[in-house]
Amino acid sequence: MKKLPDTITDAKLRPIARKVYEGKPVSGADALSLLSTNSVLDLGRLASHVRGELHGDAAYYGVSMNLNFTNICELRCPLCAFSRDEGQPGAYLLTQADMERRVEKAAAAGVDEVHIVGGLHPALPLSYFEELLRSVKRIAPRMFITAFTAVEIDYFSRREGVSPEEVLARLIKAGLGAMPGGGAEIFAPRVRKVIAPKKASGTRWLHIMRLAHEAGLRTNATMLYNHIEKPADIVDHMSRLRSLQAETGGFKTFVPLAYHDGNTAVRARRRVPTGFDEIRLYATARVFLHNIPHIKALWMYVGEKMAQLLLNFGVDDFSGTYSGERVVHAAGAPTADRGSEAYLRALIKNAGFRPVRVNASYERTGRRA
Ligand code: SF4
Repeated sequence: MKKLPDTITDAKLRPIARKVYEGKPVSGADALSLLSTNSVLDLGRLASHVRGELHGDAAYYGVSMNLNFTNICELRCPLCAFSRDEGQPGAYLLTQADMERRVEKAAAAGVDEVHIVGGLHPALPLSYFEELLRSVKRIAPRMFITAFTAVEIDYFSRREGVSPEEVLARLIKAGLGAMPGGGAEIFAPRVRKVIAPKKASGTRWLHIMRLAHEAGLRTNATMLYNHIEKPADIVDHMSRLRSLQAETGGFKTFVPLAYHDGNTAVRARRRVPTGFDEIRLYATARVFLHNIPHIKALWMYVGEKMAQLLLNFGVDDFSGTYSGERVVHAAGAPTADRGSEAYLRALIKNAGFRPVRVNASYERTGRRA
């Protein structure tokens, strides 16, 4: 047990800090206090303590590509700016050939993993997704596949009239390596009814994740915040994840996502999250979710400056590279691609951490593996 450092000066946080330094779980009431504290440096010390015990100075990142096969979706959740109805301007469905071309290109560029998620398209049978995974493995046998949220697994099961266990078994056989954590939103029914009324319930999402863990898959878990939820809903969400994790151990990463209401049907009551909001949320998650190994900040989402800062507030996973956009400075000098691996490594090093390239299973990859 480490001695409680004198640097934790906020009297209200010291009892919580004592639990953290003794390696004991903090309570829901403690999490509520952390979510509202203004002593963010003390909170950062607690989160860094937990992070340091788990990961030392390592900061993980991936070299990955996204394959969003369609934005046509039966649910049309009010929170969603991505989905379209079939035939609506902007609706798309990638062809098999198009996806294969993208995978070939990514494999040739040294990409380690592909993330496949999409809308709930009523015309696509489960066999379509099995074939999609097989074709990725045919083209790039070593490519790690992270695919299909719990909401998609639930949808495939209902559409196909087979159990979610069978859906998972068939997809694993076809090459599925891990599942992303999307669709969790906020579990509280009162909130879910407004932001995603037709989506699988929080209880169903957790059930599918339990089945996935039992089938041997490791998964992420997301949380969408900064809309109409209350702090108690955030704590409820994280508590339910922590409880399932205590049983299955299958969650590898928690990924908070701040809600932005542009182009959606939900008008958030709040402004864009402030720096303090984000710091409190990520650091509280690191302290409260003691049994989930990784906390991820999507640097493209929170911005690279905030992502660097969050490495000092409990985050250990910096997310991944992205390709497609080149920033050319006015001087015209060739600079690192803003989404490139070199750029990401530089950001991590500049924040005082050691970049470690991994796939979604946190297995080391790349030349430096
Ligand atoms: S299920 Fe997903 S893709 Fe479909 S509308 Fe809801 S959030 Fe958007």
